Amino acid sequence: MDCIFCDIIEGRSEAEILFQNQNIISFLDIRPINYGHTLVITKKHYENFQSVPLDELHHLMKGLQFISSVVVKSVKADGFNLIVNSGKAAGQTIFHFHFHIIPRYNNDFRFKPDFKSYTQQSMKEYADIIRSELNKQKDSFL
Ligand code: AMP
Ligand code: ZN
Repeated sequence: MDCIFCDIIEGRSEAEILFQNQNIISFLDIRPINYGHTLVITKKHYENFQSVPLDELHHLMKGLQFISSVVVKSVKADGFNLIVNSGKAAGQTIFHFHFHIIPRYNNDFRFKPDFKSYTQQSMKEYADIIRSELNKQKDSFL
């Protein structure tokens, strides 16, 4: 399988590795939004959020709490964004599941999405569509 992140894990490609243990590895993003922009990934290859088993997510979350606080302190950031791009439409370019830790500074820049607005009725309609699908699928969740 052709995966740049697996290549980094296996040592076939170089990266500025920051931390690793048995389950996860973390390295600097080669194209940082702010300096210190860090990626945290599972060592096993999973394509996207939906396909990561819960025990792996647990390892990832534990690593994220630790690494994000250390990154923020190290680069003296005022905060950070934790981002997952899931699917091509959402900007995912590497299909090995990963979290971005993006250090942020007061007034550095603004994400500017084009916010939409609901009417009272359309808000209820959207909620109904999602609620009805959740209801259909809840047995597979519980
Ligand atoms: P995404 O767009 O959410 O899939 O994020 C993929 C990220 O991986 C991008 O921010 C890239 O800059 C980063 N990236 C791609 N190749 C490498 C690499 N060889 N080393 C470090 N980061 C990389
Ligand atoms: Zn991979």
